[in-house]
Amino acid sequence: MALDFREQVPLAPLTTFELGGPARFFVSVASEDEAQEALAWAADGGHRVLLLGGGSNMVIGDEGFDGLVIHLEGLRGVRFEDDGDSVEVTAAAGEPWDDLVARAVDRDLAGLECLSGIPGFVGGAPIQNIGAYGQDVSETIVRVRAFDRKIASIVDLTSEDCEFSYRASAFKREPDRHVVLSVSFRLEAGGAPALRYGELQRALAAESGGAAPSLRQIRDQVIALRRAKSMVLDPDDDNRRSAGSFFTNPIVPDAEADRVVSLAVAEGLVQEPGEVPRYPAGPGLSKLAAGWLIERAGIAKGTRRGNVGISTRHALGLVHHGGARTTDLLALAREVRRTVKDRFGITLVPEPRLVNCAL
Ligand SMILES: Cc1cc2nc3c(=O)[nH]c(=O)nc-3n(C[C@H](O)[C@H](O)[C@H](O)COP(=O)(O)OP(=O)(O)OC[C@H]3O[C@@H](n4cnc5c(N)ncnc54)[C@H](O)[C@@H]3O)c2cc1C
Repeated sequence: MALDFREQVPLAPLTTFELGGPARFFVSVASEDEAQEALAWAADGGHRVLLLGGGSNMVIGDEGFDGLVIHLEGLRGVRFEDDGDSVEVTAAAGEPWDDLVARAVDRDLAGLECLSGIPGFVGGAPIQNIGAYGQDVSETIVRVRAFDRKIASIVDLTSEDCEFSYRASAFKREPDRHVVLSVSFRLEAGGAPALRYGELQRALAAESGGAAPSLRQIRDQVIALRRAKSMVLDPDDDNRRSAGSFFTNPIVPDAEADRVVSLAVAEGLVQEPGEVPRYPAGPGLSKLAAGWLIERAGIAKGTRRGNVGISTRHALGLVHHGGARTTDLLALAREVRRTVKDRFGITLVPEPRLVNCAL
C-alpha cells in the first residue's frame, strides 16, 4: 500500500507534554520496508527526518518540525525464543514498552521488572538506556536491529556497539542516524528479581514481611511507587503532561560532590553530610540527585509559572497544565537550571530530546 504522507500534522497530541507545533510532513509506517521507503522519500526531497515513538521523551518547539516526522507506532510483533535457562525476546520498535514488561513478568522472565510503568515504545528504550529502581535496559539488551542512514543499510548492533551509559547511548549522541527497528533482550527464566533500590526494598519489606518477592510483586510495587510520583501516564492525574524527569541526575567528580555536601552542611540545608543523596557512579565519580538539588535550591514541588510548573509530587517533573506553549516550558526549565547553578554551581542537563528548540 502506498504511504500516506500528510502535511502540517499537529505533533502536540502525539507527545506526553502535549506541546509544540506541527510536522511539515508526517507519515506512519507499519513495516521495516515502509520505514525505508519513508526515509528514501525524505532523502529524495532533501527533507530532514525526525523519528517519533511514543513521544514521551520529547519537547517539540512551537514552530514544529520543518521536515518529515516518521511515526514508528505500526512496527509491531514480539517473539520469545527459549534458550534453556534464558529466553531471548525480540520486540519490534512500535510495541508499547510496558506491555512488553508485563508479558515478560507473566512468563516469569526476569530482567525488565523494575522498568515497569515507563511510557513509550520499545524502539525508544535503547535511545537513553531507560532505567528506574536500580535496573536499566543495557543489562538485558543483546541486539538492536536498526537501519543505519549513514550507510543506507540494516545493521545488527551489539550492546557494546550501542555504547550505553547512564541515560545515554550512541543513538542519543547521534540522533536520527539509526532507525531502531527491533530490540532483542536476554531474560532469565525463573530468575530472581532485581531488588537493589532502597525505596523499593523498604516498600516490599513492609508488605511481604521479609519473604522474597516475585517478579509480579516487584512490578506491582514499582507501578505503585511510580503512580505516587505521577510517573505513570494517568489521564486523571493533574501532573500527567510531562516527560517524566526533565533533568538527568548530575554525574560529577567526587571532589565536586564533596563541595556540594560541604556547602549543604555549611548553609544548614542538612545536619549531617550523609543526608545529601549521593551515589557512586564509577571511578572517581558521584551521582547527585537532581530533584534534591532543585528543592534545596528553593524551587518547591507544585510551583507554578502560568500554565506550566513543577509537579506537585516530584521535583524533577516539569509539567504542562494545558494552554501553555513550549516557550513557557523552556522558560521554566531555564529558571530551574539557573537557580540550581546559582545555589550549588551544578549545571543540570535536560533528559528529553529538544526538537527545534533549546534551553
Ligand atoms: C511519566 C513519565 C515517566 C517516565 N519515566 C522514565 C523512567 O523512569 N526512566 C526513563 O529512562 N525514562 C522515563 N521516561 C521517559 C520516556 O518514557 C522514555 O525515555 C521512553 O523510552 C521514550 O520512548 P518513546 O517511544 O516515547 O520515545 P520518543 O519520545 O518518541 O523519542 C525519544 C527520542 O528517541 C528517538 N526515537 C524514538 N524511537 C526511535 C526509534 N525507533 N529509532 C530511533 N530513534 C528513536 C526520538 O527521535 C527521540 O530522539 C518517562 C516519561 C514519562 C512521560
